Amino acid sequence: MEKGYFPFATILRSPMFRFCFLGSGTSQGVPVIAKDYPPEFLANPKNHRLRPAIYVETEKIAFTVDTPPEFRLQMLREKIKHLDAVLITHAHADHIMGMDDCRRFCDISGDQPLPVYAIQQSMDLLRKIFFYAFREGPHPHGYFVPEPHIVTSEFQLGDLTVRPQLLDHIYITSCGYLFIQNGIKKLAYLTDCKYVPDKVIEDVKGVEVAVLDGLRIKPHPTHMNLEEATAVAERIQAKTTYLTHLTHAYDHDVHQAQISKEHPNLFLAWDGLWIDL
Ligand SMILES: [Zn+2]
Repeated sequence: MEKGYFPFATILRSPMFRFCFLGSGTSQGVPVIAKDYPPEFLANPKNHRLRPAIYVETEKIAFTVDTPPEFRLQMLREKIKHLDAVLITHAHADHIMGMDDCRRFCDISGDQPLPVYAIQQSMDLLRKIFFYAFREGPHPHGYFVPEPHIVTSEFQLGDLTVRPQLLDHIYITSCGYLFIQNGIKKLAYLTDCKYVPDKVIEDVKGVEVAVLDGLRIKPHPTHMNLEEATAVAERIQAKTTYLTHLTHAYDHDVHQAQISKEHPNLFLAWDGLWIDL
């Protein structure tokens, strides 16, 4: 056989699935307003965290999970030129306040509405906050035109099966998402939760990549801290786990080195990190 000839290579090539951490920071972002940090902390770009969201891309579909306040800057930074949909975890400000900037994607698609997926509770809040957009048309040219889709159960998005995962964020329900491509559990995005129910852990178990809320080192009333997130990661048994929604309590390289000693497959996310699956 000719050297380097692998007849099955093309057949076995899995379809493209990649995602990017648009932001890995907590609700205030990092650094926070009006606080002095050691120069070494600020010198590391991985310690600069915008509010949390991911962008997901396959050959068939491109979407974000959440539209944080820095959505416009995140779209510019990653040179995103097209969106087919937006999925919302929950309607806290740090996850939705950039939604109006979706208007540009409506504009370049010829004033087409942009599908917005959210659970009923979140959609009701979105309708109140963005009341001028969530209404019957006609909308003026160049405005944001959402097409609401209430998430109640599994749905299809391009070549992905999306399974909603309800999470306990104490004062509000957050909706995580499991993305399945060709029967393979590719990514579970589970942010903003104090607890991950057993049912969710069972459903996402063995996923290639899990992204978990891992706010900070100290406990917090509505988010998982490092210890809680690590315990959940051990139960989910993803090939790789990333923690997101991170405060300035994490000095990326310092804490990553500590985490890696005991948990070689557990990583702190950082803004602009792309993962190919
Ligand atoms: Zn939240």
